[in-house]
Order: sequence, then C-alpha cells, then structure tokens
Amino acid sequence: MRKPIVGGNWKMNRGTPENAREMLDELIPKVKEMKDVDIVIAPPFTALSVASILKVTNIKLGAQNMFYEEKGAYTGEISPLFLRSLDVEYVILGHSERRNIFNESNELINKKLKVALSMDFIPIVCIGEHLEERKAGKTKNVIKEQMEGTFKEITKKEMEEIIIAYEPIWAIGTGETATPEQAEDAHIYVREILTEKYNDNTANRVRIQYGGSVKPHNAKKLFEKDNIDGGLVGGASLEADSFASIIKAAQETSN
Ligand code: PEP
Repeated sequence: MRKPIVGGNWKMNRGTPENAREMLDELIPKVKEMKDVDIVIAPPFTALSVASILKVTNIKLGAQNMFYEEKGAYTGEISPLFLRSLDVEYVILGHSERRNIFNESNELINKKLKVALSMDFIPIVCIGEHLEERKAGKTKNVIKEQMEGTFKEITKKEMEEIIIAYEPIWAIGTGETATPEQAEDAHIYVREILTEKYNDNTANRVRIQYGGSVKPHNAKKLFEKDNIDGGLVGGASLEADSFASIIKAAQETSN
C-alpha cells in the first residue's frame, strides 16, 4: 500500500523566515494528527531556517531545486551540502517552471537526480505536458520522453525512493485542473513505463502525485483514484486553511 504524500511548493512566496513561520504556526496544529499522509513543504531557500520549528512536527522540509556540484564557481546555485546542513529531506527537481523558464533539460535533471539520490534526499521529480501537446494527442509521448531522459541509469532500488509528480503544465497555476480521469490515465501510463523499465513490483511501489490547481474542493476526487498518491500543490499551499484541507483529503482517502 502506498502512503499518500502532499507537498506544498511555495515557489517565490513566503520567502522570509517570519512569513513562512506565520503560516506554519497555523498549519502545524491543524495537521498534527494526520499520520496516514506524508506532508512536505518547500519554501524558498531564504526561509529554510523553519527547519528548526518543523523538527518536532509531522511536516518535512523540502527544497525547490538543487545544483549537482557540492561547491565551486556556480554563482547563484545551491549546493546539496548546504541543503543537507539545513535539515532538508526532500528536493523538487524538474518542476515545469525550471524546465520552461530556466531551460532545464532532462539531461540536467538526471544529473541533479543522481546527486540527490547519492546524498539521500528524497527527490520529487516533475513531469507533464503542455496544452498544445495534449491537444495534439502527444501526452504519452511527452511523458515517455521525459521519463526516459530524467530516469536514465536510475536503478530499481533508487527508483523506488523517487516520488514522481505528474503535473500537466496547462493545469499549473491556471485554476484548470485535470479531471480525475485524465490524471488517473496519465498515472496509469507512468506505471506502465515503470513496469517496462523495471517491473510490476517497482511500478506499484513508486508514489505518483498529481499537481495542477489542486484545491480543497477538488482534492478528494483526485486522491480517490487508485493511482494518485496525493498531490504537489502550489497556490493552495500558501494558506494554512486550504493546505490543511487538501492534506485532510489525502488522509481520508489513504488505504
Ligand atoms: C505547482 O507549482 O507544482 C503547482 C501544481 O501549482 P498550482 O497548484 O498553483 O497549480
């Protein structure tokens, strides 16, 4: 049985420790009894010091990105060692905003992924198609290509540690959510690829989150689907009430 996991990707919001703390002070009591769901928040780097208040809670800390080198002349990049020193456990890789705005390729994401795994971070790897690709019937091709490139040379054991976030780009930040059926179909396809590359057992172990305008009103219907193991949430993770409702939906639909 896969335990659902709900992640809050704060993007470039709530970036001061005070601003992050304000939200967490509200969130922590609301979700403290929710043990059947893994909870992660990924604030901006400048607010990762909230690790100290998360220590005694059931909320884990994630980073929104990471570089593949440990140190050196890489202006503006964040070393995995720095993240480790801040008690970061999860790292989001290949978010569509990284792929599209910062031109991150599957090859680059694969390089980061290997380093993240070697340093025992739990990677949340994002994949997903553009609207034009969906309209042209290319959703499966895109998913396949992204998975082939991003998971190149990843062993079976490593794959089972990875969380995949299927995030159709047309649904991110747009208020237009994939229907539970559209999301489920994509997740089933992701598992088919995992079966082809590894085996059924691995395909059934990997947790696949859905991301793209997950809100309190639609979370439950999405999470009820057999192959949707929680969500990666942007906008609705910024306020404690909405994020807690989404976490509750995952808790209620677990097992
Ligand atoms: C995201 O940033 O991964 C995301 C899914 O954003 P939103 O929930 O705002 O669509």
